[in-house]
Amino acid sequence: MAAVRRSAILILCSCCLHAARLSAQRRQSSPATAGESRAVTAFEKARANQANGLALEAFLRRMPKGGDLHMHLSGAVYAETFLKDAVEDGLCVNPNIDSLVRNPEHGPSTPCQQGSVPAATILQDQKLYDALVDSFSMRAFVPTPGVSGHDQFFATFDRFGGLDKSHSGEWLDEVASRAAAQNEQYLEVMMTPEFSASARLGQAVGWPVAPGAGSAQDIVGTAPQQLEQLRAKLLEGAVRAEADRSTRHARGSPAVRPDPRPASATDVSGCGVNGRIDPGCDQA
Ligand SMILES: [Zn+2]
Repeated sequence: MAAVRRSAILILCSCCLHAARLSAQRRQSSPATAGESRAVTAFEKARANQANGLALEAFLRRMPKGGDLHMHLSGAVYAETFLKDAVEDGLCVNPNIDSLVRNPEHGPSTPCQQGSVPAATILQDQKLYDALVDSFSMRAFVPTPGVSGHDQFFATFDRFGGLDKSHSGEWLDEVASRAAAQNEQYLEVMMTPEFSASARLGQAVGWPVAPGAGSAQDIVGTAPQQLEQLRAKLLEGAVRAEADRSTRHARGSPAVRPDPRPASATDVSGCGVNGRIDPGCDQA
C-alpha cells in the first residue's frame, strides 16, 4: 500500500509540475514568477541528478500537494497498522486465506476456531506476517491471468474487515500525520459506518406488505405510513446506534480535533500532549 501510494504521489506531482512548467512557458504575456522559475529549475536539477535517485523524491515530497479528495480511510491505512490492531484486539488469523477472523461472541481469551491461530502468532512468525502484509495491500503483487490489480485491491477490504471501528481515531491520526509529512494541505476522508447489525435487522424486518387497493401508495405499492413505521423500527432497532457509534469513533481522533487531552492508547499524534505537536495536528 505504501509503495502504491508513493507512486501515485510521484505521478501526481510530476503531472502538476509538468502542467506548471507548460503554463509558465505558454504565458508569454505574463512571464513566470521568480518562485515558479526557481521551482522549475529545482525540479529539473533533481530530475537530472541520475546518480542520486533520492533527490527527485526529496523534491517531490516537500512540494505542496493541495487536497486529497475522496480518500477512503480504510484504504489509506497501512497493513502493518491493521496487524498491530488485530493483535491488540485478540483477533484470530486464518493462514489459509491470509485474512483476519472476528468472532463477535468470543472474547480475546477464547480459543480461535479450527484452522485459525491467534493474531499474536504473527509476532513470532515473520513468514505469516509478511504474507498478511502482502494480502492486505498491493505490496509485491504480480497480476496473473484472471487476477488483476483491481481484483487484488478490492479483495483486501474483506481480509482486514474484521477490525473494530473503535480504531478509526487512531487511523485518522496516522493518515493526517502522513499527509502533513508529504506537504498535503487538505484531506477529504470518507468512512463507511458499521452496518452489519442494521443489515441483519433489515433482513429480519423485511419490506412491508403492500396495503389493499384504494390506499395511498408509492410506485412499489407501499403506503407512506408503512414507510414511516419501517423507518422508526430500523432507527430504533440498530441503525441509529451503529451510526452514532461510528461518528463517535471518528471524532476520537486528536489529530483532527486537537485539544489538550491526556494521551491514550489511540492517541498517535499526541496533539498538545506534553508539548508535542505532530504536523498532522494542523491538517484541515
Ligand atoms: Zn470511493
